[in-house]
Amino acid sequence: MKIYISADIEGVTGVCHWDEAGKSHPDYVEHRRQMTAEVAAACEGALAAGAKTIMVKDAHASGRNIIAGQLPPEAELIRGWSGHPYGMVQEITSEFRAALFIGYHSRAGSDGNPLAHTFSSGKIAYIRVNDKFASEFSINRLIAADLGVPVVGISGDEAICREALEADPHISAVAVQKGIGNSVVAINPRLSLEKIRTACQTAISDYPYKMKLAVPEKLQLEIRYKQHTQAYRASFYPGVEPVDAHTVSYRTESVFDLVRAKTFLI
Ligand SMILES: [Zn+2]
Repeated sequence: MKIYISADIEGVTGVCHWDEAGKSHPDYVEHRRQMTAEVAAACEGALAAGAKTIMVKDAHASGRNIIAGQLPPEAELIRGWSGHPYGMVQEITSEFRAALFIGYHSRAGSDGNPLAHTFSSGKIAYIRVNDKFASEFSINRLIAADLGVPVVGISGDEAICREALEADPHISAVAVQKGIGNSVVAINPRLSLEKIRTACQTAISDYPYKMKLAVPEKLQLEIRYKQHTQAYRASFYPGVEPVDAHTVSYRTESVFDLVRAKTFLI
């Protein structure tokens, strides 16, 4: 059994400031260690559930955060970015039994995390897919679902866990912190490792795999930019239509087309 893990840092226990997510800042060291430990805990849960191989995508910023030697030997690690439109779930295929998202965070346009954003904290005011606000969770889950791979477990802030459970109540969700204004209330970082390990094991063992994964036949991507200049530039991508000075829309029937457009429009 092969398990896929996509890992971010803004939903890792205790992270509440960009300094803690930025490689060049001294505060980052402690938080990359916790990110690594949370991913290692997810790997241990997956192995306990019977996984034979695990592919981990380091999916924050440079893609060079996780300390590889601290993951179990069964885990392969994708570092950096290939440029493939699957992005945070690069190299995922239908061969994986299930996916786990670790360190995930609230979407752009929400208040669930001081660092709430969707793909780009600098450019994007919000993204919507089929008139629903989208998050990195929801778009990466759509890619996985298109390949028949269910997302069975997530850890991150309380609001993204709530979103995940609304999308699929069978997901095992571990809320490690709650965003309040510019702060977070976080559980103990050692407790979060225990919870993530247990939840990932249960998630992989107990998920109702026979349930059909819903992928809409028609997809509409709407991106609202912080700057009108970005929307003007984006309006030249083939098939993109301007909505207003800050917003563009793109329609397709293919998940791949949607994420390819997203890749070039952000
Ligand atoms: Zn990130």
